[in-house]
Amino acid sequence: MKKIIIHCLIVFSVCYSGITHAFPKNDLKPGGIAILPAADISQAEPRVFSGNNRVAVIQGKTNWLAIVGISLDAEPGSHYITIRESSGKIHKKYFRVHKHKYRTQYLTIRNKNKVNPNKKSMKRILREMKLKKRLIKTYSNVDPQLNFIKPVSGRDSGRFGARRVFNKQKRNPHSGMDIASPAGRNIRASSDGVVLYAGDLFFTGKVVYLDHGEGLISLYAHMSKISVKKGQKIRKGQIIGKVGKTGRVTGPHLHWSVYLNGQAVDPALFLP
Ligand code: ZN
Repeated sequence: MKKIIIHCLIVFSVCYSGITHAFPKNDLKPGGIAILPAADISQAEPRVFSGNNRVAVIQGKTNWLAIVGISLDAEPGSHYITIRESSGKIHKKYFRVHKHKYRTQYLTIRNKNKVNPNKKSMKRILREMKLKKRLIKTYSNVDPQLNFIKPVSGRDSGRFGARRVFNKQKRNPHSGMDIASPAGRNIRASSDGVVLYAGDLFFTGKVVYLDHGEGLISLYAHMSKISVKKGQKIRKGQIIGKVGKTGRVTGPHLHWSVYLNGQAVDPALFLP
């Protein structure tokens, strides 16, 4: 019996360590991810940029791989990253983004100030936009763990990328995945990371940002309770808060966003 248990533990850890090196899905759509060979593995790790933003680079079998977040606003067609090899050589690598039609979602929000904010709220929103921009462009020199878990169980109630119409007015496309879940259910960290921000913002309500390293950031919004602090180290699966309905919502759910090189990408691409 003891032998069997030990054997299972070994198998589990092998399988587990296999998964930890998994990559997100390559999907060349606006809001998708491009996985591109950046340099031969025999060289030192290259530095890769998309515009001014640093791109995550992961060690593959034969190449260093750039994990590039594609903007939701990206036009279909040719795009590039800039690669600075360890030798100092700089070159561009091109990739093609294909067309993708996202659905339109119509929502009715009871709190009208969350759709047409008053002057005072607008001031706050502008301030928080700057903060958000800074947070999602964070780049830390830590190898990210790319095999995510879904932070809470429940059905997808709002797809990533959906064009959104609130109270008959057009707003920005949906930058994350909504997971319908009863209020109070535990929210778990998608992957290992550090708490970049924990606070209460106008649209997201109670929100936690996790920094997973090399520009990979995840966000958990509309919480009823936050149970972590800024700067705290978090393990994958650790409880970071509870599902709620704070901020701009129609009801309790978790809004979950994932960012790469400052771009919101489809969180579903990180799930097995
Ligand atoms: Zn959402």
